[in-house]
Amino acid sequence: MHERSILRFQRYVAPRLQHGAAIYNQNVPQQASSVIILAENLTKVYSTGKLQVPAVRGVSVKVEKGEFVAIVGPSGSGKSTLFYLLGGLTRATEGRVEIDGIDFATLSDAERTRLRKHRIGFVFQRFNLLPTLSAMANIEVAYSISGRKEPLDMAYLDHLSVLLSIKGRLDHRPSELSGGEQQRVAIARALITRPAIVLADEPTGNLDTKNSDAVLAMLMRSNRELGQTTLMITHNPEAAAIATRILYMRDGQIVREEKGSASGNLKPVSA
Ligand code: ADP
Repeated sequence: MHERSILRFQRYVAPRLQHGAAIYNQNVPQQASSVIILAENLTKVYSTGKLQVPAVRGVSVKVEKGEFVAIVGPSGSGKSTLFYLLGGLTRATEGRVEIDGIDFATLSDAERTRLRKHRIGFVFQRFNLLPTLSAMANIEVAYSISGRKEPLDMAYLDHLSVLLSIKGRLDHRPSELSGGEQQRVAIARALITRPAIVLADEPTGNLDTKNSDAVLAMLMRSNRELGQTTLMITHNPEAAAIATRILYMRDGQIVREEKGSASGNLKPVSA
């Protein structure tokens, strides 16, 4: 990891994680490590007319509960395709993905959607908020389609809104919010269901430094305090610096792996 990135992380992002109330009034104890995402020999070939584009070529990866994994690589290296495969948003041409021991390939489309909505919170580079709904309604809709039986925990939403500094913005539609505010709403939307896994695709790609730091601090915090497993695609070394493990992709393959700088700096809150 680039030395400047580590320094910036230590100076600016890490301190934001040490202060303030817990994300919720409980810290989830770190459990004995166990695999929550398992990919074996994943291959995805896009067919465009006569052309076959191999976007992901035989990727195997294991992510343990509570890990924060960054996937980095140049544009076109297959990061987004791997993200879609791991999140069950697209089917593999070959190979398999298991989420918490459940093989996506054994599920019908409806079951796969249910598993995804229940277990995974997504954050996208372009925020993907529904434009005709207020920020609040975007969060409520995400919660209601997650299939949870218990009503939305308003105290938790309030707490997230304070931590993300969007409390006064919830009545606004996305077009009335800045990019940074939209992404912070999207983070609240992803976290409101307390998903076991958070998948973030270039979450800071469209943001200025201040908003990037806020988004990264929140992802890091929810990873540590809610015991979530987080997987983040980025080509920003400063963003990758918050991970505990970094996977480098090139030409559809994971070509290198290293420990993230955060793995030594930050102890889990519950430790
Ligand atoms: P990255 O996220 O690292 O930029 P992608 O996964 O988006 O990489 O793309 C990997 C390769 O697959 C690229 O060559 C890209 O052009 C190709 N690709 C991505 N999506 C499609 C698609 N829907 N149809 C055809 N080719 C695609």
